[in-house]
Amino acid sequence: MDTTTRKTKNNRSNNSNKNKPSGQRFKNSSNNNAKPGFKKDRRNRPKKAKQVSNLDPKLLVKKAVQKETKDFRAERTFEEMPINFKLKDLLAKKGFERPSEIQDRTLETLLAGKDLLGIAQTGTGKTGAFLIPIIEQMLRNPIQNKTYALVMAPTRELATQIQDEFKSMTKGLNLYSSCFIGGTNINTDFRNLRRTPHVIIATPGRLLDLENRRAFKLNNIHTLVLDEFDRMLDMGFINDVKKTLQLMKSRKHTLLFSATLDKKQQGFINEILNNPVTVKVSNGETTGDHIDQEVIYMEQGENKFDTLLSLMDEQNMDKLLIFEEAKFKVKKLTAMLNKKGIKADEIHGNKTQNARQNALNRFKQGKVRVLVATDVAARGLDVSDVTHVINYQLPMTFDSYIHRIGRTGRAGKTGKAYTFVDAKT
Ligand code: AMP
Repeated sequence: MDTTTRKTKNNRSNNSNKNKPSGQRFKNSSNNNAKPGFKKDRRNRPKKAKQVSNLDPKLLVKKAVQKETKDFRAERTFEEMPINFKLKDLLAKKGFERPSEIQDRTLETLLAGKDLLGIAQTGTGKTGAFLIPIIEQMLRNPIQNKTYALVMAPTRELATQIQDEFKSMTKGLNLYSSCFIGGTNINTDFRNLRRTPHVIIATPGRLLDLENRRAFKLNNIHTLVLDEFDRMLDMGFINDVKKTLQLMKSRKHTLLFSATLDKKQQGFINEILNNPVTVKVSNGETTGDHIDQEVIYMEQGENKFDTLLSLMDEQNMDKLLIFEEAKFKVKKLTAMLNKKGIKADEIHGNKTQNARQNALNRFKQGKVRVLVATDVAARGLDVSDVTHVINYQLPMTFDSYIHRIGRTGRAGKTGKAYTFVDAKT
């Protein structure tokens, strides 16, 4: 569970961390009461004055607790649930025996066609929670030459992952999906649309691009899912989402899923959903209790890269995700790691979608030990067995922090997250 090595343990037993050499100032207390300092996220805007995070490092220190939502064990198996036997078989092939809590508590609601506000942390099976009832509905009421559902996700990788999950749950069922995401050849999308997909999974920009080109119509689609909706209603996406909602006014069923719930968005959520059922399986405003979180204070002049290398060594970091704030820093850190003989790959907005997907696949398959990324990899990505997440710099917002560290400690495992902080912060 806790991979803490001798060195870290020593530090925990000794509270005077401040004057230790680099890599030894791992702070761990349970003082998590202070409010996070929210700051507008402008990380990817180039050539602006340097942004400084005002996040309180005390918030990023927490000891993993074994009590967590993953301990939930549904009283029924998929075999006992009101779904098609073929779907049951496919879920069994995926190794799904019992529904996760969010799946268990939402199936009947969704099969009854009720709108849903689903709050569940990443790794709790929320993708299955919306895909299983959608697939079941399509098996119960076969449709022809029509798209039944649209799933919108904020990142390309998340959209691809949702489509992979859909494909594995519909093998041999004659149900088809298309995934429309930026950074890919739009002609392929046109070709895919020739055979009307039953489910479209898309990021907002490409979806509306295709709609503007009259490649397909949104108004006939029955079900709309907004995954990671807090992000979808925020920043650059809000206008695209509003436009999509406008174009889908006659939709019959709307599902919002997210790990976090921003109270400021409640008004808009009320406009989108019709008499919804709310299902909350975790407190979307706190970080996962199952993730050990520590802060590493760096004194001025200390070599952060050396500290990182020794930390990687000491903590047996088998599968490590490192977050950096800027694209060029991701590139640089990846090159430095590779130079040291540590297999690392990178994901950021300057990479083509192909390169991003390849890097992710190599990381998933264990062909590289380290994935260095900007926040494009922070949300929703499901890579099993990420043992550690490192914030190489203090993240700009607490929300971003929650999503980043949520890449570890998935599927009931305990994860570990470190955040490098300037000692003067
Ligand atoms: P998600 O939260 O949707 O990203 O899912 C996290 C991981 O849990 C994915 O690898 C899913 O394939 C897996 N998963 C989802 N539902 C179940 C289930 N009922 N039983 C076992 N694994 C599941």
